[in-house]
Amino acid sequence: MYKIAVLAGDGIGREIVPEAVSTLQLVAQKFNYSFEFQEALVSEDAYEKLGHPLPAETLKICQEANAVLLGAVGSPKMDTLPAELRPERAALLPLRKELGLFANLRPIRVYDSLITASTLKTEVIKDVDIAVFRELTGGLYFGAKKREVLESGGEQAIDTLVYNTEEIIRIARLAFEAARGRRKRLTSVDKANVLESSRLWRETVTALSKEYPDVELTHMYVDNCAMQLVRWPAQFDVIVTENMFGDILTDQASMLTGSLGMLPSASIGGKVALYEPAHGSAPDIAGQNLANPLATILSIALMLRFSFKYNEGAKIIEKAVYKVLKEGYRTADIMSEGLNKVGTTQMGELVRQTIQKL
Ligand code: NAD
Repeated sequence: MYKIAVLAGDGIGREIVPEAVSTLQLVAQKFNYSFEFQEALVSEDAYEKLGHPLPAETLKICQEANAVLLGAVGSPKMDTLPAELRPERAALLPLRKELGLFANLRPIRVYDSLITASTLKTEVIKDVDIAVFRELTGGLYFGAKKREVLESGGEQAIDTLVYNTEEIIRIARLAFEAARGRRKRLTSVDKANVLESSRLWRETVTALSKEYPDVELTHMYVDNCAMQLVRWPAQFDVIVTENMFGDILTDQASMLTGSLGMLPSASIGGKVALYEPAHGSAPDIAGQNLANPLATILSIALMLRFSFKYNEGAKIIEKAVYKVLKEGYRTADIMSEGLNKVGTTQMGELVRQTIQKL
């Protein structure tokens, strides 16, 4: 019996997470897996009912679980709170830190049937299959921050970008190992021409590469990588990069797959891994049955594979998603002319019906 903590969070998180949980329950039934789900409050609901976006009891439920499923956090209501109580800073970042989730893995695969849903040309995105490893608990988002009033008038704001050797080695090692099991090419992305932290990053990754002589390592500046991702994305196999660069590059790379709503993610490194779609709470479409639940459903597949080694269950979910798309069903974000438009709940139901038939 594995325990799964379920944190739906804000906005579309409340619509997509139930679809993923129902899908997981069906797969469990089919393969005789045994899961116990424990719901916990995070962000707006948690703040309103328990006084903090990440209450101690939610953290405890996550720490005691075997895996965590998170929807998304962030809501217009929470945006009015002081910075230290905003859910991104008060819930998401501490949750990652407390669970020791130093690596975020985002697999970026282009589905044949979605090739026209991307804003990029078919010949550019065909054959794209990239695994991005983003460092998740260091860098600019976690470094010391302050504001100062200047004597000369106005203010100045300071964010600090810190990385140490050990933090770089542990994420780079995961990326080298992953590359070894794939096409054996690793691109390390930095800004070593300008940033000292990037120079340490580059030196450290280069030194570690001696342990992986079978993996071809290249270094790329982040600005060039942003350009290469839309110019010739198929050149990439595994990418490893620091926190902020990874945040930005993975949103950009999501458009190769047609929509942010297609991109799952796994945050790993600690005892308990956390699975969540790569997108946010999408307040612009929340509560309208418009959200694409596939990123969250595909995140469940990653959970089955990485946390529980249930490869059969992971594969059946991925196969079902592939088949539903092939049959022409689309949520609004990936819709093309002449296909069948469906809402969040219908898309979840279609995936489950397909799993039942496979
Ligand atoms: P977002 O990812 O929520 O949305 C960006 C755009 O993509 C929107 O137009 C949205 O409608 C669309 N979109 C996202 N997911 C979709 C889905 N599943 N189906 C269809 N369309 C989808 O990013 P944002 O608008 O910049 O941020 C909204 C809130 O989410 C903010 O409060 C932000 O801080 C938060 N956020 C949270 C996370 C997280 O929980 N990990 C990540 C990013 C942003």
